[in-house]
Amino acid sequence: AQRPYIVGNWKMHGTRAMLSEARAIDRAAERLLKAEVALAPPFTLIHATRHEAGLIGVGAQDCHIAEGGAHTGDISAAMIKDAGGSFVIVGHSERRADHGESDAVVKAKADAALAVGLAVIVCVGETEAQRDAGTHEAVVAAQIEGSLPLGDAVVDKVTVAYEPVWAIGTGRTPTVDDVAAMHRSIRAKLVEIYGPAGGQVRILYGGSVNAGNAAELLAADEVGGALVGGASLTAEKFLGIIAAAA
Ligand code: 13P
Repeated sequence: AQRPYIVGNWKMHGTRAMLSEARAIDRAAERLLKAEVALAPPFTLIHATRHEAGLIGVGAQDCHIAEGGAHTGDISAAMIKDAGGSFVIVGHSERRADHGESDAVVKAKADAALAVGLAVIVCVGETEAQRDAGTHEAVVAAQIEGSLPLGDAVVDKVTVAYEPVWAIGTGRTPTVDDVAAMHRSIRAKLVEIYGPAGGQVRILYGGSVNAGNAAELLAADEVGGALVGGASLTAEKFLGIIAAAA
C-alpha cells in the first residue's frame, strides 16, 4: 500500500514566527518515514518554509488560472514553483464559498498548476444541507466530474481531498462508515474518469482531523491520507496525527 499522505493546510494563518513549527515538523518527519508529509502555508511563507524544511513537501493553497498578466493581487502557478512549492491545493470549499469558484474555475486552476509541473490536491465535499438531503454522493460526483483535470498524463499528479463542509473546523466528523462509503464512491468516479489509473489516485479525508481520530479515519476504506487544518498549526498537534498515520 502507498504511504499515507498527510498534508497541513495552514489557511490564512502564519507569519515568520511560525517557521519554527515547520522546522520541528520537518525534523520529526525524518523519523516518521512511514508517512509522506507536506505543508501548505500562506504564499508569503512558501519560500521560507521550503528553506527551513528540507524533507517535507511544501505547496500553496490556491493559484490563478492564467500564466501571468494584469491580475492584481493574484499568484500564478509558475510563481509558486519558483518560490519552491511542489503542489497546489485547488477548490477548497473556503475558496469556492469566499471567491465563488465554480468547478470549471477549479479545473482551470488545476490545469494551470499541472502545466508548470506542480501536483494538485483537488478538494470536494458536500454541505450539511446536501448531506441531510441525501444528495451528498451525487454532489461530490458532480464536483469530481467538473473539477478534475483530465488525461492519462496528469493522473499521477492528482490527489483528491474529500472535505465535508460541515466537518471543517467544527470538531464534527462523519462516521468511519460514512467516510468509507464516500471514498468508495469517489474511487468509482475516478476509475470512470481515468480508467484503471484512477485506482491509484490518493483520496484524502479532511475535516476536524486530530491526533485522537486520525488512526480510525485513516484506516477507513480508500482513505489515503488526511488534509488537516487547525491541527496542523503546531508541530505538537500535527506530529500526533502523523504518528497515528504511520
Ligand atoms: P480543520 O482540520 O481545521 O477542520 O480544516 C480542514 C480543512 O479545511 C483542511 O483543508
